[in-house]
Amino acid sequence: MPAPHPPGPHRPVRLLAASVGLLLVSACWSPPSGARPDAEVTATLPLPGPGGDPAPEAPSAVPTPSPTATLPLEGRTVVVDPGHNGGNADAPEEISRPVPAGPDTKECDTVGARSADGYPEHEFNWELSLLVRDRLEAAGATVVLTRDSDDGVGPCIDERAAIGNEAGADAAVSIHADGAAPDSRGFHVIVPGEVSGFTEPILEPSYELGEALRDEFHAATDHPYSDYLGEEGIDVRTDLGGLNLSTVPKVFLEVGNMRNPDDAERLRDPEWRALAADGIAAGLTRFLD
Ligand SMILES: [Zn+2]
Repeated sequence: MPAPHPPGPHRPVRLLAASVGLLLVSACWSPPSGARPDAEVTATLPLPGPGGDPAPEAPSAVPTPSPTATLPLEGRTVVVDPGHNGGNADAPEEISRPVPAGPDTKECDTVGARSADGYPEHEFNWELSLLVRDRLEAAGATVVLTRDSDDGVGPCIDERAAIGNEAGADAAVSIHADGAAPDSRGFHVIVPGEVSGFTEPILEPSYELGEALRDEFHAATDHPYSDYLGEEGIDVRTDLGGLNLSTVPKVFLEVGNMRNPDDAERLRDPEWRALAADGIAAGLTRFLD
């Protein structure tokens, strides 16, 4: 997520820009591009008037947009779903009961993956989800988490989907990390495939969300695409209840393979997690903007 412009040299430029009618505040939230706002403003500097006199000063009363008007996700609702939960391991009966998952049933939830040195996926998912929530809220979104702690049980996969549906979410993302073979690594986004009677309405927007997330996450972290699942960082699945039961655009992000030492080192690193959260928030913002 681009940081707000710092005070100092930019400030007079922004005031001048406002006086000539450029909506520069929104540029704070645009993806970086070749044309810096400064360059645009240079082209609009007042030219000397007839006879060489300086042009009249721009009006001093610069309209101040309300802060909320500048937030890119104002009015948008995003559901962030941290996969699994810290209490699942102690509740095998509860989490193994079958629940609706689309045409078939599936177990309520699972314990999740774990790195070789014991960092549990549910904890990683929770920590990263909170960082994503903070960024989205700072951008004006209403954020709903599917669980409120990392020591509970569930919710089941059908409830996780229902939370997004009932919130009327504009987008939903489930955050996970994988437990694949240790010599495999990388991230992938899981998008819903066609499941007759279930996913048709969300296929197209979910794919669009998946591409935005894939691109922005990759740009923010330089983390490689998965070398064991999907193509170019995107995998299509029809067996996930969390996607099949969603009526809002939804994807899963498998951030890395916890059993791969290189991936696990990144996932454990708070600084890397902050970059990952930046990328996820940027992907959601690009999709919703
Ligand atoms: Zn998981």
